[in-house]
Amino acid sequence: MEITEAVKKFKDQIKLLHAYEHAMGVMYYDIETAAPKNAIAGFSDTLAAFSEITYNISVNEENFKLLDFLTEHAGELDEITRREVEEAQRGLKLLRNIPVDEFVEYQRVQSEASSVWHDAKVNSDYALFEPYLKKLVDFNVRFAKYAAPDMDPYDYWLNEFEEGFTQDVLDKYFAGIKAALVPLIHRIGEKEQIENGFLHKNYPVWKQRELSDYLMEVMGIDRADCAIGETEHPFTTGFNKHDLRITTHYYENALESSMYSVIHEGGHATYEMGNSDELIGSSLAGGASCGMHESQSRFYENIIGRSRAFIELVFPKIKEMFPDELKGVSSEDFYCAVNRAEPSLIRTEADELTYSLHVLVRYEIEKKLMHGELDTKDVPSEWNRLYKEYLGVDVPCDREGCLQDSHWSGGSFGYFPSYSLGSAYGAQILHAMKKELDPDRLVREGKISVITDWLREHIHKYGRIKKPAELLDIACGEEFDPGYYVKYLTDKFSELYGL
Ligand code: ZN
Repeated sequence: MEITEAVKKFKDQIKLLHAYEHAMGVMYYDIETAAPKNAIAGFSDTLAAFSEITYNISVNEENFKLLDFLTEHAGELDEITRREVEEAQRGLKLLRNIPVDEFVEYQRVQSEASSVWHDAKVNSDYALFEPYLKKLVDFNVRFAKYAAPDMDPYDYWLNEFEEGFTQDVLDKYFAGIKAALVPLIHRIGEKEQIENGFLHKNYPVWKQRELSDYLMEVMGIDRADCAIGETEHPFTTGFNKHDLRITTHYYENALESSMYSVIHEGGHATYEMGNSDELIGSSLAGGASCGMHESQSRFYENIIGRSRAFIELVFPKIKEMFPDELKGVSSEDFYCAVNRAEPSLIRTEADELTYSLHVLVRYEIEKKLMHGELDTKDVPSEWNRLYKEYLGVDVPCDREGCLQDSHWSGGSFGYFPSYSLGSAYGAQILHAMKKELDPDRLVREGKISVITDWLREHIHKYGRIKKPAELLDIACGEEFDPGYYVKYLTDKFSELYGL
């Protein structure tokens, strides 16, 4: 085979896969936002048919040969094509090594597990879900062994989700967080709690929609490239840098909920809108990893959106929109309220300070499950014990405990740490940014676009061309250092609570 011919074949395939994925993505977005409830059954069949087509395009001997040929000739490829080949190999590594019948069986168990988990969660009945969890753990341990026989299975999965991260790195990372944050949270618990009752008055949804428009404008999001929809659980999806879709959920009695969903999801969208034009149509558009994506959404949500400067910028407009609800409330009151830290049970509702401890509980449990050191039957008691130890809260039922997240029912082990790493990346990126810019002053002056330009230049434009560790090096000039995150949280919350 000629190298030019092979590259053309490879690129044509990327184009075709992208077209199918585009169609599936639009269908998925429609299911989540606009389609009527009973549309789901019809969609399932269509999506299954499309998935089978895309599976068959990539998982076959001819394609494996093509990829191996291109890998052997990697030195003759341009940077984008070389990385596309690398990513395609990475994505197929598992499928190439698992016996087909085991993979089919896994998919069956996984889809059953998802529906059983829903019932188990609604009824807070862990015993219903436990046999599935056990099977999924076994599958994941076995699959890791097929793909990387010499690697610890949990390290394999961690590295799949966030390249370069293994238990060695994460054990140290979480030990640092635990040592600094558990006592800090305890000390805050002894202080008088911040008043946030005014956030839970009645905020009409139609007015909150106007607030979303305003926030997207402040963030500099071009509405010609990014739409906003409404859904049960907010998410962002994108098809290319000129077609991003963010979503939010409005609660009449919780103003900050949608406000920060819009900023968070807007951060994800901003990342992808900042990809360089040469990535359009390549398989490298988007973000470098789950952790790096989360670093950008949380950068806008917490580091910018929950800063005093940002609240000073947007509060006059918010007060103008809700004059009765915010009567007598100052910008400083609002700033304190949106930063109120309080140990709680549900990860997705956790504040900026306690968030990573929720992740730590899941990390420790996954680690033990993957090594056979914890029986799936004992997950609830271990979960409840760790919540008590780290966050000081009593878990009243498994619905609000170990059944709260969908990840395990979907067969994902090793994903959770990337949520926490995103915040840590963000704090390190802020430190680097401050050497060149004054982010607080820029935010106060409404010049968030200058900050976005910096992030675009150092992170967004690369899409997946660079790996997370390479991006940190480009943006910060050093390796990952969680010390910045611990310092950022300690400084911010000590000041807030007068410690
Ligand atoms: Zn996110």
